[in-house]
Amino acid sequence: MAKIIIKKENYFHNLELLSKKAGSKEKLMAVIKDNAYGHGLKIMAKLAREFGITKVAVKNLKEALEIDSSFEEILILADHPHESKAPVNISFAVHSLEFLKKFPQNSNIHLNIDTGMHRNGILVSEIKESLKFIKEKELNLRGVFTHFRSADDFNAELFWQQSNWIEAKQEAIKQIEKFGLDMPAFHSCNSSALLRSQGGIKDDFARCGIATYGYTHIDKNIATYDLKPVMSLHAKRLSTRVIKEGQKVGYGGVFEAKKEMEISTYDIGYGDGFFRYDGLGNLKIANGQKILGRVSMDSLCAEGKADEICLFNNVTEISKAFNTITYEVLTKLMPWIEREVKML
Ligand SMILES: *Cc1c(COP(=O)(O)O)cnc(C)c1O
Repeated sequence: MAKIIIKKENYFHNLELLSKKAGSKEKLMAVIKDNAYGHGLKIMAKLAREFGITKVAVKNLKEALEIDSSFEEILILADHPHESKAPVNISFAVHSLEFLKKFPQNSNIHLNIDTGMHRNGILVSEIKESLKFIKEKELNLRGVFTHFRSADDFNAELFWQQSNWIEAKQEAIKQIEKFGLDMPAFHSCNSSALLRSQGGIKDDFARCGIATYGYTHIDKNIATYDLKPVMSLHAKRLSTRVIKEGQKVGYGGVFEAKKEMEISTYDIGYGDGFFRYDGLGNLKIANGQKILGRVSMDSLCAEGKADEICLFNNVTEISKAFNTITYEVLTKLMPWIEREVKML
């Protein structure tokens, strides 16, 4: 069976680095949405809890209900209003005034404010109306937040959006006081914005995903960081054969042997969420080994007859080869791949 190994030591190393940046463990919300970026939702929730993380963010109510209920705060980032009441430590991100109005009384919510990304969130000019509605409908406002669009980039965009956030926050505080609501938590930073921050953050906490798993896409001209990849991906040998010079391997016969060689197939393919390499580039997996020919749905081919091969310890090169980001290669890995935690 193909297998994902989770290096607990590296996860804890990254959580330590990020909680120091934020100011404390309480100021770090671990983002474990989308099956913890492919690492395994329950496993990563358990490890985060063990480390001392008190807040997590997930994709939807289904994910929220699957994890350890002892978190102080479980924030759902991308789900719709639910009729039935969720447990007290679960809250929903609200991305527009239209949707705010659909939440039932007593729902726990975090209000998202659009400070320049223009993806989600209420406008600054809608803060007053939103809070009035929250007050009247007796919604439980637990947080007010925003999201930055360019925290990775080597330009001034982050600073521009951060100053918009400071203004939005001031307006929210003013209106919250006016309506006599309890003061919620404020949060804005993702991994990159937190890593770039100096001397702690002004918000109550930061929401970090990718950096907890050991990666950042921050432009290297800004800085580099001591993060350690948490996941490695491994596959087991399914069969071995010797092919002669001129024989071709796999769909389309894309790989042709230049000499007699021993080759094996391994039990991972694009059906498991590993990218479908077309065999034409120069994709290298761990140890500089090459994939021979096209990746099939459930297998791929490599030289030799090792019982196991490692596809990656660090997914950066593979994501570059597919012209995408580390987030995508990790998140696509299917939940049925066995996950094993390597202890400290
Ligand atoms: C996914 C997500 C994050 C985490 O972003 P990273 O870049 O992985 O740290 C934070 N906030 C929101 C709203 C998100 O959707």
